[in-house]
Amino acid sequence: MILEIRNLSKSYGDKKALENINCSLSEGIYGLLGPNGAGKSTLINILVNNLVQNTGEVLFDGKDIRSLGVDYRSLLGFMPQQQSLFDSFTARKFLGYMGTLKGMEKKKLNERIEEVLSMVNLSEASDKRLGSFSGGMKQRILIAQAILNDPKILILDEPTAGLDPKERIRIRNMISEISFSKLVLIATHVVTDIEFISNEIMILKQGELIVKSQPAKMLDTIIDKVYELSVREEELPQVSSNWRICSMLKDSGSVIVRILSDEKPKGYDCRPVKPVLEDLYLYLFDDRIQPSPEVMYKLREALGRGCLV
Ligand code: ADP
Repeated sequence: MILEIRNLSKSYGDKKALENINCSLSEGIYGLLGPNGAGKSTLINILVNNLVQNTGEVLFDGKDIRSLGVDYRSLLGFMPQQQSLFDSFTARKFLGYMGTLKGMEKKKLNERIEEVLSMVNLSEASDKRLGSFSGGMKQRILIAQAILNDPKILILDEPTAGLDPKERIRIRNMISEISFSKLVLIATHVVTDIEFISNEIMILKQGELIVKSQPAKMLDTIIDKVYELSVREEELPQVSSNWRICSMLKDSGSVIVRILSDEKPKGYDCRPVKPVLEDLYLYLFDDRIQPSPEVMYKLREALGRGCLV
């Protein structure tokens, strides 16, 4: 199974939302990251055939998804961003309705509804109305409708939006469990949602795909740019005016500050530390940082060569 995105561009009037996206996806979990407005929803809506691109194509096993029609729909599960649920429906009735829309045969559908309710841990709430569901339960029932037809391609747009940390972790673990032998694409602007469950991470910046790589390889590009400094509290303003601070921790009299810096900071008690995805995200998107040409070159080279794709 291979989904190929070729020379894909999309504009809304004068506004370019996606610019010449090229990449291939197969089985595995892909995290699609980028700040608001980066083009994630536009890309997803093209991939699920809800939106037509201006140029380029998307091929599933070599065939244009737009020409595959119903055949493509039957391979696809989609969880949209907005929680527009039918509040008066029970969970079971909602899944029955969605399965019917997907063209599933009644007996098979009824069996599958019980299966997916159990997979998303909502069996006990199956006869409750959706209007009474918590945010996390609503997200889970939306995932349940997306996997009803056991899709080969599962696309989730901001699956943890509006959830508390406990529910986020629960949804994240559930996605890992249900994704076996599927192509799963998760769009989010929350780094921790995808950092540890994605085989590959794709980052969109102003409509451009600037990297697509395994998380560890991606982090190698800033391996010498994250430091921890131990400073006195009164030195903090100086540190924050010199560098972008990722995090800080007060520690009996001193403060441990995690910073991003292209050079090893001079004049401070400091040590290099292993980057995490949040560091890279900040490095790429913080207004105060001009990413070094060397890092951008490494990211683009990896993307262009295809070795990380
Ligand atoms: P994301 O999902 O990453 O937040 P979007 O794909 O929603 O990004 O948006 C990408 C860009 O396209 C943004 O600048 C957004 O304002 C613009 N955009 C999205 N949808 C429309 C639309 N229907 N009409 C005009 N501009 C749009």
